[in-house]
Amino acid sequence: MKITKIECHVLLDPDYDIGATSSAQDDLVVEVHTDEGIVGIGETDLNPWIARECIEAPGTHTMDQGLGSVYIGMNPLEPQKAWWDAYQATAMTGRRGALVSAMGAIDIALWDIAGKAAGVPTWKLLGEKSRDHLGAYASLQPEVSNFDAYLSSMLVWARSAKEMGFKAAKLETTFSGPYANMGIREKDERMTEVISAVRNEVGPDFILMVDVQYAFDSLERAQKTISTWADFDVYFVETPLWTDDLDDYRALAESVPIKIAAGEWLTTHYEFDALVNQGGVAVVQPDIGRVGGLSEALKVTQMAARKGKIVVPHLWKTGLSVAAAAHLATVTPHMPFFEFLPPALCESRLRKELVTDEVKLSEGKVSIPEKPGLGVELNRDALEIFKEAALKIRAKAN
Ligand SMILES: [Mg+2]
Repeated sequence: MKITKIECHVLLDPDYDIGATSSAQDDLVVEVHTDEGIVGIGETDLNPWIARECIEAPGTHTMDQGLGSVYIGMNPLEPQKAWWDAYQATAMTGRRGALVSAMGAIDIALWDIAGKAAGVPTWKLLGEKSRDHLGAYASLQPEVSNFDAYLSSMLVWARSAKEMGFKAAKLETTFSGPYANMGIREKDERMTEVISAVRNEVGPDFILMVDVQYAFDSLERAQKTISTWADFDVYFVETPLWTDDLDDYRALAESVPIKIAAGEWLTTHYEFDALVNQGGVAVVQPDIGRVGGLSEALKVTQMAARKGKIVVPHLWKTGLSVAAAAHLATVTPHMPFFEFLPPALCESRLRKELVTDEVKLSEGKVSIPEKPGLGVELNRDALEIFKEAALKIRAKAN
């Protein structure tokens, strides 16, 4: 089988907010076509206009091609071999960053094709089934107009997640740093206030994770606040420090009584090796598209197993990425949870409408995917609406 065409769809939620820090309001989706009529789909989480250029750009140097021209003609049934060949053929511009994340969308589509061609769910090609259902955690998205609204929305979301049957949830407490929501700036003690209130709301038998989104600008500041959270039984603290400060990550991991998690922006398993070896984190969080697709995410999970680390992927963009994560989780025993923002708890139309037949939640659990390939298909009507919205913003930018 041969790849004949890679179609790129740049998508935008028509209700996007230019000031939001949301991964679910724009998207690059690829459709990879083959000479046998099987089409695979994949997506990735970065600026989709830049990602498309990584795929569609021409190239005049053998080590600096555009991804599309490299993948066309390859055998889609060998995604890992294709990954390595594409990684080499784009090395001058790629190796890390945007180009690898764009490869991630194509790689996911190849795994979709491989599953469809074999008539099996993709996870069967990734490894052994390691569980009977998947442990999903709810990702809670706060209301961000002011602190009081933030706090009360977190309590409402936490309560609804529990009512939906979730046994675990992740809350954001971000009042400083680059992700501080819509201008809400509060002292670090306010983070503690949110965690305490949510713990109170959900009771002791519920797993709580905390995402501070790079809020601390120094190791000392992170240590001071996080060390006061021991009583709230926090499962992990996500991205407390800037992503490149690996020595500080290690110092923090060794000095606070809570697991440290990171990795959402990293590309390739090489960056995850450094995060674990130098940064000493306990929980690695590959975003399957960004890291380079299922081929690379699989390498991250294998490294984590060798090092005794836990994997909890970063992922909530649309039902397509959620499906990719479900397949990876099926074969990864050391992935106790995967991120699941139920469409009902999310405002993004992309999250709600992009795919049909998406992974379903029942009593807080997600069942093992059974359909061939990734098991989800694009909702064509929604796709057209999102493409149109992206064309409009592009016209404005020019
Ligand atoms: Mg995060």
